Amino acid sequence: MANSIISALYCVATPIGNLDDITLRALDVLKNVDIIAAEDTRTTQVLLNKYSITTKLLSYHKFSESSRVELFLNYLKEGKKIALVSDAGTPLISDPGNILVEAVIKEGFRVIPIPGPSAITTLLSAVSRQDEDFKFIGFIDRTKNKIKETIIKNNCENLVFYESPMRLKDTLNVILETYPNKKITIARELTKKFEQIITDNIKEVIEYYENNTLKGEIAVLLHKTVQENEVDIDEKIKKLKALKLKDKDISSVLSELYNVNRNLVYKKCLDFKH
Ligand code: SAM
Repeated sequence: MANSIISALYCVATPIGNLDDITLRALDVLKNVDIIAAEDTRTTQVLLNKYSITTKLLSYHKFSESSRVELFLNYLKEGKKIALVSDAGTPLISDPGNILVEAVIKEGFRVIPIPGPSAITTLLSAVSRQDEDFKFIGFIDRTKNKIKETIIKNNCENLVFYESPMRLKDTLNVILETYPNKKITIARELTKKFEQIITDNIKEVIEYYENNTLKGEIAVLLHKTVQENEVDIDEKIKKLKALKLKDKDISSVLSELYNVNRNLVYKKCLDFKH
């Protein structure tokens, strides 16, 4: 295989925990390129040691992205082969590489992906969900208002995001406040010794973490809510109105049952024509 490695930038996916999760092709590339551009050379060194790879490592992290581009472009101009790796998973997935890839393509060199693990696909490969489609947003916003905005905007999507264990509890509480019946999956420490994947309603998940520690790396799936028109909210409003329920109560009941936005249902109630 070594002979097929040409002068190019190889974006190589590496394990997200379990060091056995690496492809034969990734090992071949890492062994036979001239330089490995690594987010943290110490982290990558552990992987290289396991597979007795002695390729030269150079750092390429988010703080040095722009300043390092020139150096790597010069290597490519000299006909050298470069691999780009991040600390874990797939480069450019919430990890550095964007600026380098753009520059390499602009200069007319090839960028060759070497696929492998990513926390997104690992999570999605083990969780059943309504419809296959999903939206990945990287790390979710940090402020309460922004988180709320994001989850309301994506209520009808299977929304995947990364979150730190320090912020997760606050984020879960914002979700509870916004959609009390939201179904959620928390994938913790994927591929590692203490791997845990739990799927439940947001309320139960919060209760669970009140009595259990929340450590390690975390990826989240907020399950999509059945679309409003699939439930036919108008029809439900009509029936509840016929029972003489108040608009306020109708909005509460329907938002609780179908995870639709309470204000939106209330507005529909006001607009309702008999
Ligand atoms: N490039 C990586 C990928 O392809 O998944 C993501 C890098 S991003 C900087 C790191 C975040 O990914 C972590 O903070 C965590 O949210 C998520 N992550 C990485 N490894 C994980 C694992 N083993 N289990 C759960 N989430 C993980």
